[in-house]
Amino acid sequence: MKSFRKELLFHIPTRRAFINITPQVTECLQESGIREGLILVNAMHITASVFINDDESGLHHDYEVWLEKLAPHAPVSQYRHNGYEDNADAHLKRQIMGREVVVAITDGKLDFGPWEQIFYGEFDGGRKKRVLVKIIGK
Ligand code: ZN
Repeated sequence: MKSFRKELLFHIPTRRAFINITPQVTECLQESGIREGLILVNAMHITASVFINDDESGLHHDYEVWLEKLAPHAPVSQYRHNGYEDNADAHLKRQIMGREVVVAITDGKLDFGPWEQIFYGEFDGGRKKRVLVKIIGK
């Protein structure tokens, strides 16, 4: 069995963003040389997500509106977490959008369903963040 590990680096200037990271994850898979196995992709920060869905701008807008209804950023005083921080909403948004995804690797490719793409979700940007890619297989 082979294993491969790499960190992807992000520094998103805006507070929130959704970035399609499928090309970077595919590059990691090619670099690993693994043809059959599993790939784990996880956000290494508790105010960012990794998730799978459609690369469609209307849907990304809908996520933004939905998440702001569930956990509005302002007023920051509504959250107990916001003592010296103002990112309680980002922790809550991360919780619902998820920490990680696992994708099967078949014949050297990500074995996606129709329209599936991997996204990095940033909910408290303006600082450096990392995403872990771990691949195991043969
Ligand atoms: Zn916090």
